[in-house]
Amino acid sequence: MKKIFIETYGCQMNVYDTEIVKSVLGKDGFGFTESEMDADVVLLNTCSVRENANNKVYSRIHKILNGRKGDDVKIGILGCMATNFRKQLLENPKLPIDFIAGPDSYKRLPQLINDISAPVETNGAVKNFDVTLSEFETYSDVYPTQSDGVNAWLAVMRGCDNFCTFCVVPYTRGRERSRSPENVVDEVKRLADQGYRQVTLLGQNVNSYNYEGNDFAHLLEAVSEVNGIERIRFTSPHPKDFPRPLLQVIAENPKVCKQIHLPLQAGNDRVLEMMNRTYTQKEFLDLVDEIRSLYPKMILSTDIIVGFPTETADEFEETVKVMEAVEFDSAFIFKYSERPQTIAQRKFPDDVPEAEKTRRIVKLNEIQKRHSYQKNLGHIGEVHEVLLEKESTRKSADDFQGRNDGNKIVIFPRGDYHKGNFLNVEITEATPHVLRGKPVNVLNK
Ligand code: SF4
Repeated sequence: MKKIFIETYGCQMNVYDTEIVKSVLGKDGFGFTESEMDADVVLLNTCSVRENANNKVYSRIHKILNGRKGDDVKIGILGCMATNFRKQLLENPKLPIDFIAGPDSYKRLPQLINDISAPVETNGAVKNFDVTLSEFETYSDVYPTQSDGVNAWLAVMRGCDNFCTFCVVPYTRGRERSRSPENVVDEVKRLADQGYRQVTLLGQNVNSYNYEGNDFAHLLEAVSEVNGIERIRFTSPHPKDFPRPLLQVIAENPKVCKQIHLPLQAGNDRVLEMMNRTYTQKEFLDLVDEIRSLYPKMILSTDIIVGFPTETADEFEETVKVMEAVEFDSAFIFKYSERPQTIAQRKFPDDVPEAEKTRRIVKLNEIQKRHSYQKNLGHIGEVHEVLLEKESTRKSADDFQGRNDGNKIVIFPRGDYHKGNFLNVEITEATPHVLRGKPVNVLNK
């Protein structure tokens, strides 16, 4: 039995895919090991969203092989680098890898691994590969092994049709396709039977989910009818796909968490158009107003890119203006990083100086820290329903950690409760990143 070691980089979809890979290989009789030192095959499930993501993988390959000198260990590259950098990975004789498999080819992994002994010659490099992008593959018949015990990740759709000009995903993960609601509900029932209390529905553009006319609002309602599941979250949505009926389900269905991740990316209309985000600053702000008119306390987070090609300092100030207007609870802020194959790389010069990108990201992080802190201070004195996730924290074994409905981390003193318990916790302290509180009672659910 060959032993597999898997290492995962990047987004939650990759983490989910690693569980799919484990399920496919486990079913075919492969074993797994937690260490690359005694593995027969090392799989790196890669991300290609930014330059340094690739460099990390290249140095990791060499580090593993240096540590296994003389051993007959095989290396396979999975994930978005496999599709985005297939040519370099396959044709570079100096890159000692044995095969590559893209995100839609994981059912072929047993064969790709078993075929290593009969490799195919490719321009002097002897490597196997399958980087086919499928219009149909959703792995709906593969049940990923889940590890967390409290929150289960569940991909309900794959791929993306939006072609934001800075993004590689449409090229590395193909066109959008959704699983049937029945298939998703079946998996949610199985997860509830295993004791999961919360599910997070996953997709590159999850709210464009559509299966034979069943849209995302329909899916949320169907999942909320499963007994045992108390909380439903979803990630990552696109602001263009929030029709009012969906916003009403989020605001009114008690099991759907009152928290929305709303990637803005930039505040200026000319830059938004260059990004092909399909909305304007006004439309984004109108959506925020509509969300808050339905549920004033909705927790909002966002993604922002600073220094997109040709973005001027004045145009950047539009992003500042939107952040000050919305006051997000949290934000992931990145410097623009040119990605191979993307429309932006082909069409627009990466002309914003690095120092200027740094000035902009520092400014936005300061603004966001102020907003996060103000918002969190506003929770002091409130009683929040918290799902207990960890029976210690990074900093202290005397504390338990959970998340409130808004997906904010709440830390409280340990006591006679367990992972998966829902507790009422009175918030007593706040920092920009976490809340602290004291338990009031354990909820019977
Ligand atoms: S919506 Fe845009 S940023 Fe998100 S995965 Fe699709 S192309 Fe990429």
